[in-house]
Amino acid sequence: MGRPFVAGDMVLLEDSKRRRHLITLSEEGEFHSHTGVLPHRNLIGQEEGVTVRTTRGARLVALRPTLAEYVLKMPRGAQVIYPKDLGPIIMLGDVFPGARVLESGVGSGALTMTLLRAVGPTGHVLGYELREDFAERARRNIEGFLGPDAPVTIEVRDIYEGIEATDLDRIVLDLPEPWRVVEHAAGALRPGGILLSYLPTIGQVGLLREALAASSFGMAESLEVLQRTWHVEGQSIRPDHRMVAHTGFLTHARLLVPEG
Ligand code: SAH
Repeated sequence: MGRPFVAGDMVLLEDSKRRRHLITLSEEGEFHSHTGVLPHRNLIGQEEGVTVRTTRGARLVALRPTLAEYVLKMPRGAQVIYPKDLGPIIMLGDVFPGARVLESGVGSGALTMTLLRAVGPTGHVLGYELREDFAERARRNIEGFLGPDAPVTIEVRDIYEGIEATDLDRIVLDLPEPWRVVEHAAGALRPGGILLSYLPTIGQVGLLREALAASSFGMAESLEVLQRTWHVEGQSIRPDHRMVAHTGFLTHARLLVPEG
C-alpha cells in the first residue's frame, strides 16, 4: 500500500539532534556526516518514516520532504517567503484549483511552488522575473520538487514595464515597488480578481495603499502573520525563547468595476 523509496527520490534525513539534511537517492550514493556514513542503498525499497542507522550507529529518520521543508532547504538565490506567510497568501489571495495566476518576482521559486500546488494541474502560474540566473534556478527548484509537468511559465522581464497577460484571476507580488504595478494589474486582472503583495517594510505598505486607493482596486487590507513556536518537553511546556519576529506584511485588494 505504501510508496517505498526509489532512486531519484528526494529524502529528508533528521538526526537525533533534529538536524535536517536533504538528499537525492541514487544506487551508488552515500550520505556523509560527522555521525557516520549512510549508503543510499539502505533506504531504497524502505517505506517513508523508516529509521536507519549510519556506519557509526547514529539514528536517522527518513521521509520525503513536505513543501515547507523543501522550501527551507532548497538552493536559494533571493530570500524566500517562509511557510508561515505562504499558507496565508493562498487563503488571502483565494488561489483556487484552475486559477490563472501571475507572480513577480519569482526569486528562488518558493512562492511559485506553493501557487502551483493550489492551482493544480488545470491552473497556470506565469512568473515574471528580472534576473535570468534567478529564473533558471527557480525552474530547477520547481522541477526538482514538482517534476517536469507543472503548469508554469517563467519569463525574464520587468513587470514595472507592463503585463502582457489578460483575464488573470490573481496577481501575487514579491518585489520592492509594487505600487508601480497597480495600474498594469488593473488592466491584466479580470473584474473581481485579487492583487496580493508581500512587503518587508511598512513604508512600502503605505505607498502601495496610496496607489491602490487611487486605482479601481477596493477592499484593501494589510496585515502581518505572527507565528510562535512552543517548547514541549515533559512538563516543561512554554513558548520557545526565540522567535522570528518579522518577515513581511501582506496587502490584498480586489479589482472593482469603476462607477459609471
Ligand atoms: N517570492 C520569491 C522570492 C522573490 S525575491 C520566493 O518565495 O522564492 C524578489 C525577486 O523579485 C528577485 O528575484 C528580483 O530579481 C525580482 N524582481 C525585482 N524587481 C522586479 C521587477 N521589476 N520585475 C520582475 N522581477 C523583479
